Amino acid sequence: MLNIQDIDKSFGSLQVIKNLSFEIKEGEFVAIIGPSGSGKSTLFQLIGGISALDKGAILLNSEDIQLKRGIIGYMPQQPCLLPWRTILENVTIVEELQHKPNILQARAWLEKVGLASFEDAYPNALSGGMQQRVSFIRAIVSDKPILCLDEPFSALDEFTRLEMQAWLLSIWEKHRKSILFVTHNIEEALFLADRIIVLTKRPATIKKEIIVPFDRPRSEDIRHTESFHA
Ligand code: ATP
Ligand code: MG
Repeated sequence: MLNIQDIDKSFGSLQVIKNLSFEIKEGEFVAIIGPSGSGKSTLFQLIGGISALDKGAILLNSEDIQLKRGIIGYMPQQPCLLPWRTILENVTIVEELQHKPNILQARAWLEKVGLASFEDAYPNALSGGMQQRVSFIRAIVSDKPILCLDEPFSALDEFTRLEMQAWLLSIWEKHRKSILFVTHNIEEALFLADRIIVLTKRPATIKKEIIVPFDRPRSEDIRHTESFHA
């Protein structure tokens, strides 16, 4: 499904990614871990199509993602919300560019994460964790076959994180999307992923791959809190 083929990326003389190749199969749930500064976010920017490769190719179902923008559900590490657009507009911005914003779904999901009352607010009125949830919804509202989430829950308290993990699991159970996510939290990687790709220090190549030996919990087995901490 997603093929990373022998890619390189440098910033000037700084080589960040070197000869990196791996594949994500349809419906796989894969975690990427690696030292800070190893190149994980750089890799996701390349997969998300917002940065250009120096060498190699990234293909989604044989289509070159560098040529066809907007085919990946990408959540950057920093929320990157447009300050002059409302929360609802920020969530639907990608589809708006493609002239098919899914307003109803966006509203439903903002409500689900406790942010319904903020849909007409502007990003500077939201905390970092709230902005992170908006950015998460922006990535999933577009209903792409693959989600690439860069540290999606890093700014959240433990309760909200558990809710969001359960919700991500329920999306995966229902739609069997491929999901690729970065985390520094080994427990989160073991908890959610089928497979963990461990990157080396910069320049990033694959150090090892771990097949997670545990059965993943079902989303409905995860304890639910009363509400989100909006
Ligand atoms: P973290 O776990 O801290 O998020 P990371 O693995 O995501 O780290 P990256 O953000 O990909 O790391 O950065 C990898 C390296 O590339 C770092 O040394 C960083 O300074 C450098 N880098 C990233 N983006 C740029 C850029 N636009 N220009 C120059 N250097 C960059
Ligand atoms: Mg990063």
